[in-house]
Amino acid sequence: MKVYFLGTGTSQGIPVIGSHHPVCKSTDSKDKRLRVSVWVSWGNHSYVIDCGPDFRQQMLVSNCHKVDGILFTHEHADHTAGLDDIRPFNFKQGEMPIYAHQRVIENLKKRFDYVFETENRYPGAPSVKTHEVVNNEAFVLGDKMVIPINVMHGDLQVFGYRMDDFAYLTDVKTIEESEVLKLKNLKVLVINALREETHFTHFNLEEALDFIALVQPEKAYLTHISHLFGFHEEIQKKLPENVYLAFDNLEITI
Ligand SMILES: [Zn+2]
Repeated sequence: MKVYFLGTGTSQGIPVIGSHHPVCKSTDSKDKRLRVSVWVSWGNHSYVIDCGPDFRQQMLVSNCHKVDGILFTHEHADHTAGLDDIRPFNFKQGEMPIYAHQRVIENLKKRFDYVFETENRYPGAPSVKTHEVVNNEAFVLGDKMVIPINVMHGDLQVFGYRMDDFAYLTDVKTIEESEVLKLKNLKVLVINALREETHFTHFNLEEALDFIALVQPEKAYLTHISHLFGFHEEIQKKLPENVYLAFDNLEITI
């Protein structure tokens, strides 16, 4: 299975528009971060997790020619605002299967009403086929089982996803013990770490490292990074062995 980091930045991305922060001015390509998303592929199968405002650019840069479905973690704009740009895939492949909590599907119906319109549809409008994700109900993607992981982003429920020995969790602040049990024996865990300072809806570095110590994956990658965290190169030096700061266009094989 290949995991390609399409974006590793927090909601504003890095650089932040109009910012003079040194990280936003960095010339290191690893300090340029699009909104958070991964592309997971194996054999003939190809899925992305989340579809933020940088989706079009991410598909072009990564050379992704086929998407069999989109798994949504939650409805925040940095994870969903690119939905209109699935059209090139619709023209080639037909309806795009999307997988999300029912609440997220309802939210997308409000914000992208034309996508879900059944009468007088605008020709060429994006089209989706919805699949509800329910906690404690694994589902099949291609020939793999996906286990939803229920986490909390402040007061908002968010789904992470486990496929084989890989789990992708973003926008986590708290997680119940029953969900942690679903994360045993991972080869790779991707987990959000916004910055060093505490945040009310995101893990900071310390919380992410404590969580990694609890789950004990073989390797962990940090994502959903704020410019306030600092320069990629300097953060990486502070991390324990087997913990890596993810960066855009990093590809790993599991
Ligand atoms: Zn987010």
